[in-house]
Amino acid sequence: MNKKHGTLYIVPTPIGNLEDITLRAVKILKSVSVIGAEDTRNSGNLLKHYEIKTLLFSYHKFNERARVEKILRYLENGEDVALISDAGTPGISDPAQVIIREAIKNEIKVETLPGATAFIPALVSSGFNTKRFYFLGFLPTKKSEKEQLLKSVSKIEDTLIFYEAPHRLMKFFQSLKTFLGNRKVVIARELSKMFETYYRLTIDEILSSPEKLILKGEFVIVVEGAKTEAVSDEEIGKLLDKFLKRNFSVKAAVEKVREITGIPKNRIYKIALSKK
Ligand code: SAM
Repeated sequence: MNKKHGTLYIVPTPIGNLEDITLRAVKILKSVSVIGAEDTRNSGNLLKHYEIKTLLFSYHKFNERARVEKILRYLENGEDVALISDAGTPGISDPAQVIIREAIKNEIKVETLPGATAFIPALVSSGFNTKRFYFLGFLPTKKSEKEQLLKSVSKIEDTLIFYEAPHRLMKFFQSLKTFLGNRKVVIARELSKMFETYYRLTIDEILSSPEKLILKGEFVIVVEGAKTEAVSDEEIGKLLDKFLKRNFSVKAAVEKVREITGIPKNRIYKIALSKK
């Protein structure tokens, strides 16, 4: 780390309620030389509220690469720079990654402040498993990429978390039904805002009664992990038999059954061994 260089601060800002910003975040935003903001007008309101008068410049996904030189110049001159996004933590479904990588490459200190992000409150309030979870953010817009991603997580027992825009929500749930089957979901709408709502439904309930949802505002969708324990030993045994009859080795049959069911190998092996 070059001590003569400034620090790049990644600063979370509220996702709705203006009070969800830390004392340290305000202090740092006041003390840095410049703040890179996704939308300077939007952030202007927040900064005004906290009487932060630091110079703002735009840093968004369309000029992210071009802005890197400018930010590096400040940092290499020993000046501190903060980066904020429209809401929540920069770098989480928001720009920041390009400058963070460049800063690391140039031995510049990167400090990300803990703070607001939309998926953590949604996950915690969901009541689903928080021990292990997958944050998937926005699904790819390209159909083939989207399908591939959903297939790849369809057997995962951990909780899945998505971001989605309101106008794409119903299509999103149709895709979930196709690739993940019917599951319990928690839809966290307008977190920390006046109309914060949690919907606790199944995908089938949403698809058959869409009127249950108000499709306006911002949404985090938390999906319960796959329930692979629901597959009985007998069913696993039958699947194994199918492959063993086709002259698969035990190892290859176990691997095939794991691929199909997503069940951990140990359990399948135990069942395979008990057949001998
Ligand atoms: N950087 C942000 C974070 O740390 O969560 C996320 C930015 S991403 C461009 C915006 C998406 O985050 C929205 O489409 C929505 O899925 C989710 N989001 C942001 N604020 C939210 C809120 N108040 N309630 C529910 N979801 C929210």
